Amino acid sequence: MSTPYPAPAETTPPRQHFASDNYAGMCPNAARWFMEAQTSGHEPAYGDDRWTQQVSESLRELFQTDCDVYFVFNGTAANSLALASLCQSYHSVICTPVAHIETDECGGPEFFSNGSKLLTAEGESASARLGKLTPDAVETLVTKRNDLHYPKPKVVSLTQATELGTVYSVEEVRAIAAIAKRRHLKVHMDGARFANAVATLGCHPSDITWRAGVDVLCFGGTKNGLPIGEAVVFFDRTLSEDFAYRVKQAGQLASKMRFISAPWLGLLENDTWLANARHANAMALRLYRALDGVAGVERLHAPQANAVFARLSPAAIARVQAKGWRFYQFIAGGGCRFMCSWDTTPESVDAFAADIVQACA
Ligand SMILES: *Cc1c(COP(=O)(O)O)cnc(C)c1O
Repeated sequence: MSTPYPAPAETTPPRQHFASDNYAGMCPNAARWFMEAQTSGHEPAYGDDRWTQQVSESLRELFQTDCDVYFVFNGTAANSLALASLCQSYHSVICTPVAHIETDECGGPEFFSNGSKLLTAEGESASARLGKLTPDAVETLVTKRNDLHYPKPKVVSLTQATELGTVYSVEEVRAIAAIAKRRHLKVHMDGARFANAVATLGCHPSDITWRAGVDVLCFGGTKNGLPIGEAVVFFDRTLSEDFAYRVKQAGQLASKMRFISAPWLGLLENDTWLANARHANAMALRLYRALDGVAGVERLHAPQANAVFARLSPAAIARVQAKGWRFYQFIAGGGCRFMCSWDTTPESVDAFAADIVQACA
């Protein structure tokens, strides 16, 4: 049987890396739906196609609520535009110092909100070291000042799973959202790796979002196996008023929207998104275990999602890189980050771990 796209070479398995889960291509289910949108002839543009309608409906079913759904090209746009819709220019957003919105979006949230400031929570608690906000840190920032010379706190932003590969429990999200509610803050969730968090927690996706007090979720698809595209999910529909205009003005309205939305159907079909996330998480655990007791490797915290953090000497890092492996060292200021994806194979993990062991010997 012929496939409409080239099959991967059968002899040498394609090279894999541990830099980011966005190094991986699209998962077969997403690719199948992508081709479905390709081969079905002409379709209305700008999101009026049947797949966009269908996947919006599927997301409402998944979250068991009548949420409002939008699609954008990437996570920076999803976060920036979602935060802009929650803030006036004189407002501020509480997040961690390692939050992607703070360190990796080139000021996008500030730019699209016309100046809303990000307030980073300091603190040396165990949670802070794991990349998480705490209720105390939020309370401290909200109550620090209440004069008009200070940007008024308006939003708490949580990353789930966090930039350090940890996961907020349902109780932790609830506790932060409870403070947010008391202090009249909205709750935003950067869910670039939301699937990995749900896979770890084993909870219903509604339990760590709207049922816990989250107002808007940026639900990542790209790192979970899409070619491109994130969903912005508003659980409080009053907050999404005119959001479509923001998306268009920001250059984020795909005219051929079906190529973003149809692959989303592939992720949601048969809970492929969860299977992809479970696999990536399992590969991270496999790598973490393979590095157990290796002299010269200091594993940092245990992975709760799909990332492993470890410290190696500069010489060892150079030797691993000389073997052709790619991984990041700048994430959250500490150590190497080894990220697994939906397609990371056990063989790649084992080969990578073996090269690390050898580089440290
Ligand atoms: C990858 C990522 C994003 C999205 O990044 P883009 O490159 O803009 O798609 C957002 N938040 C976190 C925590 C991420 O890791």
